[in-house]
Amino acid sequence: MRVGIIGGGAAGLYAACQLKRLKEDSDVEVTLIDRNPVPGKKLILTGHGRCNITNRKDASQLKKGFHEAEKFIYPALMEFGSEDTMAFAENELRIKLKEEENNRIFPKCDSAIVVRDTLVQYISDSTEILRETKVTKINKSEDFEVITDKGTYHFDQIILSCGGSSFAKTGSTGDSYKFAKSLGHTVNPPKAALAPVKADEFFCGICRKLSGVSLNAMVSVFIENKKTASYEGDVLFADFGLTGPAVMEISREIPLDVVEKKAYLELDIVPSMNDEAFDRELQELISAHADTKITTLLSRFVPASVAAEIAGQAGTADMYAQGFAKEKRKTICRLMKHLHIGLYNAPEIDKAYVTRGGVVLSEVDRKTMQSKIVPGLYILGEALDIDGISGGYNLQACMSEAYLAAKDILKK
Ligand SMILES: Cc1cc2nc3c(=O)[nH]c(=O)nc-3n(C[C@H](O)[C@H](O)[C@H](O)COP(=O)(O)OP(=O)(O)OC[C@H]3O[C@@H](n4cnc5c(N)ncnc54)[C@H](O)[C@@H]3O)c2cc1C
Repeated sequence: MRVGIIGGGAAGLYAACQLKRLKEDSDVEVTLIDRNPVPGKKLILTGHGRCNITNRKDASQLKKGFHEAEKFIYPALMEFGSEDTMAFAENELRIKLKEEENNRIFPKCDSAIVVRDTLVQYISDSTEILRETKVTKINKSEDFEVITDKGTYHFDQIILSCGGSSFAKTGSTGDSYKFAKSLGHTVNPPKAALAPVKADEFFCGICRKLSGVSLNAMVSVFIENKKTASYEGDVLFADFGLTGPAVMEISREIPLDVVEKKAYLELDIVPSMNDEAFDRELQELISAHADTKITTLLSRFVPASVAAEIAGQAGTADMYAQGFAKEKRKTICRLMKHLHIGLYNAPEIDKAYVTRGGVVLSEVDRKTMQSKIVPGLYILGEALDIDGISGGYNLQACMSEAYLAAKDILKK
């Protein structure tokens, strides 16, 4: 049986690994095709170059990190979960692992390059790797005809793992979607997930002044004046707008047409208190510290530079608590609890860590990853409409899906 793996990113490399470890005596020829000189170009960027390979949680906890795809991904996580990935890395790849905050698992050597190189080495005796080979078309008749810029190849089964559309310089330019569509699949439009957010001109000025400052906040997305999603966590001000874990996580909820949908973000920078409690607390502070500047009082809640900016926005930068007008206090409460952030555009897909959108999940068998439309076609990784939260979830999904696909292919 000839198996072609189209795209050698995390999903493709993992699929080759799983085919090698599961094949026993099966007569399988595996070919992995990648357009880059070395596969796994995105893999070496992961975890800021350290590769957050998985997250030590059981399947029922992990699945909650996959948004609408929770139900689809569950069988894969059940069959090959994070403990299995860790055992594979330590026992078969001989990569020692360590656990960090929030159950994140990294290689002890802190090197994504080592992970990538070890994977490539591991499959080198079981897989033919066609490097610098760009697939341009896939046709299905008797078998799969894969046309590349270096020639045409034929396979009995193919694994489509050309990734999503983000970080195009790594080779992931959305070809998965093109090939899936040409084979009869429906593809949900790709958009950014886990991406930074560009603020509009007005707010960008503020962000620039606060660039590098980080604080805990509740970030909410508003569409046509309705709150549609919220996430609490760290927010980091940057020259262009906002980034940091909370902003990255919520970015998938920002619509593509921000202007038409009147989309904006709202920051609650004192999320530990509701509006009334914060107002009460501020009022008490004002009464108790008449000779203190408002900016100083606000810096009890947020970093001093943010406090100064909020006081400035309220027109109270140099004011003292003594005789502080109620309307001014209300303005400050609104800015602290409901800071409106206009958006310049939808988060940019090329800056996204993951692509939301992709092959519609109802067209894929979640127990095998085989297409329900084209027998013999398996679809993995970001080619699918699955995006996980950060923390090792996306690489774990690739590994779990690769296991199901390899197992099913080898049954044939
Ligand atoms: C900066 C960054 C950091 C990240 N950190 C983490 C992390 O720490 N942990 C985590 O779980 N996830 C992380 N992710 C997400 C994770 O890297 C991806 O979800 C994962 O790599 C997706 O794997 P994939 O195989 O589907 O796609 P990719 O890794 O994008 O691989 C697709 C492959 O297909 C090849 N290809 C595409 N088109 C063609 C073609 N026409 N012909 C031949 N080859 C082709 C490409 O060259 C590429 O090698 C991070 C992502 C980024 C961008």
